Amino acid sequence: MLENFELKDHVALITGGNGGIGFGMAKGLAEAGCSVVLVGRNRDKGDKARIYLQSLGLQASFIAIDICNEISCQKLIDLVVQQFGKINVLINNAGMNIRKQPEEYQIKEWREVIETNLTSAFMLSQIVHPHMKRNGSGKIINIGSMMSIFGSSYSVAYAASKGGVVQMTKSMACAWGADNIQVNAILPGWIDTALTRQARQEINGLEQSVANRTPSQRWGATEDLAGIAIFLASKASHFITGAVIPVDGGYSIQGI
Ligand code: NDP
Repeated sequence: MLENFELKDHVALITGGNGGIGFGMAKGLAEAGCSVVLVGRNRDKGDKARIYLQSLGLQASFIAIDICNEISCQKLIDLVVQQFGKINVLINNAGMNIRKQPEEYQIKEWREVIETNLTSAFMLSQIVHPHMKRNGSGKIINIGSMMSIFGSSYSVAYAASKGGVVQMTKSMACAWGADNIQVNAILPGWIDTALTRQARQEINGLEQSVANRTPSQRWGATEDLAGIAIFLASKASHFITGAVIPVDGGYSIQGI
């Protein structure tokens, strides 16, 4: 049974895999035997992440692109398929936020958040689909957020994008189940990364209020996402599709 979790001979592409949650998931997949392709814009960060994984004896490479650029996304998938012959797993993880009240949002800021968090995930999934279909199977894992469930006065575009990620996930799962491609979403709770370090500087008392509200009484670490990534990338989850799974220490089930 445990061999169903094995990812030997698998190839996974992880956007934003050069840092934060993406790196936590990439490391878990690599430790389960997968070749991981990390994607991001920052080459220094990407090379450091790749070299660190390789120093552990794991199979990793890094490709620098802006995932909002459609041509770059097409070239990325072509390159990975050319190099490895296939892509078994796509994790649409790259994301960003611009924190402002809705009335202060500029349209170009709205577009930047939606394109990074939602449109890029759609583009990459659409481009990877024929390869997975030809391969006879595939796993797409989309990263939502607590803002896929809740609203927030300072995250109008982010919450819209992350709500969209959930409905996109369910729609792709419906469409591609017949191709043996499972599409699922993970909703991380509050995880300690560069993204939330910035939020903690901007929002007074956030550090403590998150820990207080979370039944597990702590912030998440990037390694907390490794187990679910391995599960959703592996054969063990073959009958699970369109699922939306919080990994949040219980944050989203706490009433008062
Ligand atoms: P980080 O800021 O640490 O990582 C974001 C990653 O996305 C970076 O590696 C960055 O790479 C990449 N990225 C952003 N924009 C682009 C782009 N245009 N093209 C290519 N890569 C891009 O944040 P987290 O690790 O915290 O976030 C990862 C995901 O998890 C996001 O989708 C976020 O919304 C989600 N999330 C995070 C939570 C948290 O508490 N941390 C909670 C819920 C969801 P580079 O710098 O090289 O461009």
